[in-house]
Formats: sequence, structure tokens, C-alpha cells
Amino acid sequence: MKNYTINTKCVQAGYRPGNGEPRQVPIVQSTTFKYDTSEDMGKLFDLEASGYFYTRLQNPTNDYVAAKIAELEGGTAAMLTSSGQAANFFALFNICECGSHIVASSSIYGGTFNLIAVTMAKMGIEVTFVSPTASEDELNAAFKDNTRAVFGETIANPALTVLDIEKFAKAAHAHGVPLIVDNTFPTPVNCRPIEWGADIVTHSTTKYMDGHGAAVGGVIVDSGKFDWMAHADKFPGLCTPDDSYHGITYAEKFGKEGAFITKATAQLMRDFGSIQSPQNAFILNLGLESLHVRMPRHVENGQALAEFLVKHPKIEKVSYSGLKSDPYYELAQKYLPNGGCGVVSFELKGGRAAAEKFMKALKLCAIETHVADARSCCLNPATSTHRQMTDEQLEAAGIPAGLIRLSCGLEDKKDIIADVEAALAEI
Ligand SMILES: *Cc1c(COP(=O)(O)O)cnc(C)c1O
Repeated sequence: MKNYTINTKCVQAGYRPGNGEPRQVPIVQSTTFKYDTSEDMGKLFDLEASGYFYTRLQNPTNDYVAAKIAELEGGTAAMLTSSGQAANFFALFNICECGSHIVASSSIYGGTFNLIAVTMAKMGIEVTFVSPTASEDELNAAFKDNTRAVFGETIANPALTVLDIEKFAKAAHAHGVPLIVDNTFPTPVNCRPIEWGADIVTHSTTKYMDGHGAAVGGVIVDSGKFDWMAHADKFPGLCTPDDSYHGITYAEKFGKEGAFITKATAQLMRDFGSIQSPQNAFILNLGLESLHVRMPRHVENGQALAEFLVKHPKIEKVSYSGLKSDPYYELAQKYLPNGGCGVVSFELKGGRAAAEKFMKALKLCAIETHVADARSCCLNPATSTHRQMTDEQLEAAGIPAGLIRLSCGLEDKKDIIADVEAALAEI
């Protein structure tokens, strides 16, 4: 589907049925696959032939949907995972091991921050966090001899900072390592990080890709551009024989285009599991079929709400990169010319008490620990996810007590703004 636009790829890429085959992606609800001879199956185990033998490693439904997402991002291969957390862990752990080091933007999703800073530290993988606004010199200073990857989010959840992908890619490549970008919030409809130099792209498909709050999932996409063999000393897992997999050297056998995802499948999925269920992959694909129609509406609603809030006397501050007053406006013009996403963060004057009254008064926007689905939802960290922290601790963490994260759904913007306006009047 190379010559079609991304809009058409959202609808039809991945699964292309032949004569008399099902129009919709078939759900292959089977743990295993049948073969006539042991030799046939042996070839699959040796990665000599492609095919399926056990759904913990691969399933046709997942592969159809992964192929669609690879096309949307402009990559060469992709793999679905059970969650966004699993996607980011696999993307990093596929090239990092005990003794490795990661350079990561400090402005990332809390779950990913915890994964890298705490859980991967227990595995002996260290990290240096850098500001998303770090200068080239500051970035270069963060690298060590054992650095194996650079990580950031196109639009960070929940800080809504915008990553300077070209700058981060340049620093990564100058040190012979890939840039991994979590592109969950803009989706490939609004930004394709590979076009700006990213090597690996990840998603929590739980968010806009599914878009209906129906299925938790993740995906890893490989650009197929990073030359592992040119940095073979840094990536022995890809560039030397895998004794646990019949002595295969992934980068030799599958080249730049296929090595990363083949290793992640044959080794990490085999050992850790965490594959997406075929049912969820089917649901994800239903979401993808309308992604290009939904994203502009999420952006339209987010932009309208941000513009309403920025003029409101009860609002201290609004973060939304589509606002001219936002510090990330210039970067957003470059990387997100059609807008970023529907999530808006804002701080109420009056702190915790104001936030409690505001949240209680909302009627259309529901209180949820979720973002990026069809229904507008809202969260005040101080009274929910971060309620164990004092106002002083919250301030120090950059999450003031009056901070609200509102994810604009697909409702009419007039109704979303009216709901917010009425709730503000209650403060
Ligand atoms: C939600 C989210 C994740 C984690 O994804 P899950 O599907 O919840 O595991 C990772 N990165 C970003 C940017 C997210 O918003």
C-alpha cells in the first residue's frame, strides 16, 4: 500500500484478503498450529521458514495489525505487545543488558520513568535523565561508553512537552546508538518520528490507536535504518550468535530491516511472554480504521478548550503546544503541523480546594485515570493518583495541587467547553 496516503493505510493496510477470504481481519483464536511433519515444524524453530507454531511468540491476527502500524509509521517491521509498558521494556531490553546505560528525557510517562529508573536499575541498567530542552552540549555530556539507547516521548504524558526529535537523533547517532521514541500521543497521523531520524518507535495502543478505552496494548516499530553491524561491539545480542536460538546472528540473517523485531520475537517474547491477545489486536484494528478521522477532532477539541482556558480568570496556567503562548509552540509547528493531541493540562487558581470543587462539578467529563479515548475524561493528580503527597511535595514534583489533565474526546467542543465553564463557575 506504499503509494496510498496515511488515511487510506489506516483503513486498509496490513490485511489484504485474497479471493473469497474474510473482508475483516480474521481473529485466529488458537494457541497453537498444526503441522504434518516434525521437519516442517523444525524449520520454523530454526527460523529457516516463516510461519506460526505458538501464539506466545506470534499469531497471524497480531501480525496483520502490526504490519498496518509498521506502514503507518514508515517502518520495516513491528510487533504487538500486551501493553505500552511491555512495548517500552522490550524496545529497551532488546539492546540493553546488565551493565548498559540509557539516556532518557526526564519528561516521560510516570510508568516508563519508574520502569527505567527503578525496575531496570535492579537489572543493572543505569540511566541518565536529561531535560527535554537540553542543549546539544548537555545531551552529548550525558553519554557514556556503555550507553546503548536514547529514549523520549514525542508529546510527553502528562507534561505535554514536545521532543526535538532531530536533535535527540543527532546526539544518539553521534554516539552510535539508536533513538527510541514513544509516539503514543500524536500517533502516526500527526507525527512520524522515523521521518525525523528516530530508529525505533513505540506506542501504548491503549490510547488513541484503540481510541475507545476497550483494549490495553502496545506496539514496537523498527525503522530498519539503524546499522547494528556498524556498531557490533555495542550490540552483541544482535551481532553475535544467539546460543539460545541455534546460533543465529540476527543482524546477519535478517539485516537492518528485520533483525530488531526478529530478536524481540524469538528471544524476548519467548522468554517473557507479554504478547497481545488476538482478540485485542482485532479491537485495536477497528480503532486504527478510523484513527485518521478521529485525531483531527481530538485536536480541534483540545485546541478549542486550551484557547477557552487561557483567557479564563480562574486559570493560572495552560499547557498545550497548539497555543502560541506555550513554550513548545515552535517545536510543535515543526513536528506537529496538524496539531498534537486532545490532552490539555491546566492549573486552577486556588489549589487543592478549587480542584476538588471543579472535579465534583463536571457532568460530561468523567473522572478517570485514562486519556485518549472517545469520551472526555479528567484527572486531578493531587486528589487521586498523587493524593499521598503534601502540597509542598506536589509543587516540588512539578504537579501543583490545582493541576488538571483533561483529555478531550470526540464530543462536540461546545459541550466540552460548557461543562468546563459550568464547573469553573462552582469554584
Ligand atoms: C499509557 C502510556 C504508556 C503505558 O501504556 P499501557 O498501555 O498503559 O501499558 C506508555 N507511554 C505513554 C506515553 C503512555 O501514555
